[in-house]
Amino acid sequence: MPLPIAHGLLGASVVAALRPSSEPRTWKMLLTGALLGIAPDSDYILNWLRISWGGWHHGFTHSIPFALVIGFVMILIFREWNVRSYLVFTGAYVSHTLLDFMFTESRGVALWWPFTNHRYKLRLPNPIDYTWSHASLLETMLDVLKICLTELVIFAPILVLVIWLKHGFVSSVRNRGQYHLR
Ligand SMILES: [Zn+2]
Repeated sequence: MPLPIAHGLLGASVVAALRPSSEPRTWKMLLTGALLGIAPDSDYILNWLRISWGGWHHGFTHSIPFALVIGFVMILIFREWNVRSYLVFTGAYVSHTLLDFMFTESRGVALWWPFTNHRYKLRLPNPIDYTWSHASLLETMLDVLKICLTELVIFAPILVLVIWLKHGFVSSVRNRGQYHLR
């Protein structure tokens, strides 16, 4: 059950990989990607509000058709009418769905809602131990902090690597082009 650190960093990585490397709004877009990566877990709010007696988690907000709609809403908000932007926003959102699908230990993710409510999961071996102590509030907080740091150690390098590869590669191609022009 990945936490917001992993989902946010993965959403930002998708944006870093797919957005044009020359765009001036990079940080704003990375933040948008991170928020999109976290957004599917807003269903916790529905559970908390006890709407329909709970049981929403990993439901419609985690479905691929819902991600396709979110991508459309995002290009409306950002007024970016192009396929690339649609794929970037949808990809950042759906990265959450796929990560949960691969590693969740719950009853699974409603990947194809509204067509079916069937829950799907791969249950790949999880690199992070997501169990935490319930002995006291302090112990719970320490365990959650440890999990967050572990996610940071695993997923932050992915984002850094994507940014480095993209910008390093693009600038080297540009430099080579300038060299040939001389
Ligand atoms: Zn989730």
